[in-house]
Amino acid sequence: IELLRELRDMSNVTVCARFRPLSSKEIRDHGDSTCIQHLDAETFVFKDEKGEDYRFRFDRVFDQGSEQVDVYEFLALPIVQDTVNAVNGTILAYGQTGAGKTYSMEGANIFGCDGNTKGLVPRVVDGIFECLTQANVMTVYTVKLSMVEIYMEKVRDLLDLSKDNLQIKEDKVQGIHLLGATEIYISDSAEALQNLSSGIANRAVGETNMNMASSRSHCAYIFTVQQEQHRRVKTGKLVLVDLAGSEKIEKTGAEGKVLEEAKTINKSLSALGNVIKALTSGTQGKLNHIPYRDSKLTRILQDALGGNSRTVLLCCCSPSTLNASESLSTLRFGARAK
Ligand code: ADP
Ligand code: MG
Repeated sequence: IELLRELRDMSNVTVCARFRPLSSKEIRDHGDSTCIQHLDAETFVFKDEKGEDYRFRFDRVFDQGSEQVDVYEFLALPIVQDTVNAVNGTILAYGQTGAGKTYSMEGANIFGCDGNTKGLVPRVVDGIFECLTQANVMTVYTVKLSMVEIYMEKVRDLLDLSKDNLQIKEDKVQGIHLLGATEIYISDSAEALQNLSSGIANRAVGETNMNMASSRSHCAYIFTVQQEQHRRVKTGKLVLVDLAGSEKIEKTGAEGKVLEEAKTINKSLSALGNVIKALTSGTQGKLNHIPYRDSKLTRILQDALGGNSRTVLLCCCSPSTLNASESLSTLRFGARAK
């Protein structure tokens, strides 16, 4: 395939922050006061509840007026081009429940998916097929989609709910993979969207059965692009993850299942933070242990995080002073990953 010109230089781990617009509830309960003052495209000052200022610098900050297309072009398009060229990548949406993770990933509504509000996942699909139209005619490409949910360290197949406990395996041919996970061959955007919609609908069914909120599980959209030329096969995998809500659960109020959920989420999100930290700490090499095995999430992402693959962490935040402490903790997670 002819490589589209790199839009810009991108290091292996990119950390971005995104602030959604104030919600009507936030305005009603708390007025329109926000805790951020944007300085430029990378820098802003964050004011916490006590009036303390923190300066943050990320690879890019998307403010309340940012468009879905801006987010896609900055952080996903280069990874889509990589995937088509058989390089793996990961895009993670992190943040408290209600911060805009699903909006960023799926859009306002995956079924409706209108031009403006459509999120990263449907744009990635379009981007993959767009790249393939420019591909070498001698190369045969196949695009596959899997969709899974990780809840309480169990991996469920969202394209086939009967597979409710997928095992993670590793071998020389396939690398890290989910044994028996449904893989749907997709030949265009419409077909992809149709399968994504049923995955999303299945997620809702499972939630009702398990009495669980989607915000308590991680959802992974996995795209594999395989290319075959002169009997040589190469594969690129792109995983997008809508992470479980990062909010702290009130220690006093939570008990039983809610507390167990919170502990499990906390554990997997800190495992993720530790893996990214180990990757960016500069001591990446044989001696440096990357703790992929500390959670199902990091284990699944193992071959799409690190090595020559690219990782993007999108830290989603509310701009309201009402959510200042959760936003600060999200931004600190992002800053630590750098
Ligand atoms: P999360 O998935 O992190 O829990 P959502 O993506 O569901 O949060 O966002 C919460 C609400 O805010 C939704 O109603 C969503 O449509 C809205 N929202 C989030 N981000 C934006 C944005 N950038 N522009 C407009 N509305 C947004
Ligand atoms: Mg969500």
